[in-house]
Amino acid sequence: MSDSMRAVVIARYGGSLEATRRPVPRPGPGEVLVQVRASGLCSTDLHLLSGRQPLGDLPRVVGHELAGDVVELGAGVTDWRPGDRVTAAIDVCCGRCRHCLTGATQRCRAMQRIGFERDGGHADYVAVPASNLVLLGAEISYAAAAILPDAVACMYHSLIHQGGVGIGQRVLILGVGGLGIHGVQIARSAGAEVLATSRQPQRVALAEQHGAIGVNTADEALEAAVARFTDGEGVDVVVDNIGNRESVRQGLAVLRPGGRFLVVAYLDETFEVPSMRLFKTEQQLIGCRGSTRQDLVDVVRLVQSGRVTPVLGASYPIERIQEAAACLESGDLVGRIWLSRD
Ligand SMILES: [Zn+2]
Ligand SMILES: [Zn+2]
Repeated sequence: MSDSMRAVVIARYGGSLEATRRPVPRPGPGEVLVQVRASGLCSTDLHLLSGRQPLGDLPRVVGHELAGDVVELGAGVTDWRPGDRVTAAIDVCCGRCRHCLTGATQRCRAMQRIGFERDGGHADYVAVPASNLVLLGAEISYAAAAILPDAVACMYHSLIHQGGVGIGQRVLILGVGGLGIHGVQIARSAGAEVLATSRQPQRVALAEQHGAIGVNTADEALEAAVARFTDGEGVDVVVDNIGNRESVRQGLAVLRPGGRFLVVAYLDETFEVPSMRLFKTEQQLIGCRGSTRQDLVDVVRLVQSGRVTPVLGASYPIERIQEAAACLESGDLVGRIWLSRD
């Protein structure tokens, strides 16, 4: 192993993601060194360039979705072996606070996230706590596994744990992107009926391929589609992957009394909800933040058993991060873009 590696970094806020060389990290006590084989590119990687979420000392290696092989164990690590194929939960949590001790690690206020406050997976190697690792079976590819920690596990956490989605329920998914297309599959797998919206025909078609009823909201009003889908009752759960004032307004308008509105995306800083509406309808607004390691374990199993299929888009070699970022920003692809290591 050489001393330096390829990595994608944020060197300064307001710039662009840069492919560069960095020292290979050493695994600290309780950590393992993972040789990364694939990493998922998330729009958050680009949003981090704004500096609105402080990343600590720059340059920071970004990338919070990764899969690879364990290559080295830090002091005290006994339950992993070099050669184990793994992915990793994003949040590195304190393990001692009330949230961690009750399994709600996504609420830990001392967390440091892989690819945010600590160096991430858009690199040849990353050091992560052994307690974040999740073992992969031979049947799942590195590319498919690489997109699970965020694009798939977050939807699982939102729908199943925050939204209580289950058999017989009717779920509206606003926005069929990298998260939404997996939300469709998870809700279907849980036994729900799913209506999914987009303004792009190919996204509507993809949602239908995965078992949703697709609605092109450029052609048809959402209210009419939901009224038909639910016999005028309104849906049980809305998943807002868009996150602006209009998506919140529209989503609440088609949510049944007592229904759950899942706040997954956060593009607009504020939105408005008439208090009288919440009073009269008992609709619930539920924040959804990330996922836990157990969510990732569950998701790996769902993929390995064929109930959820990760939807991959284009791949780019790590050196071509600029092209990958341009492709992501163009919005032309629905599937997750990932960085290869060849
Ligand atoms: Zn992400
Ligand atoms: Zn904690």
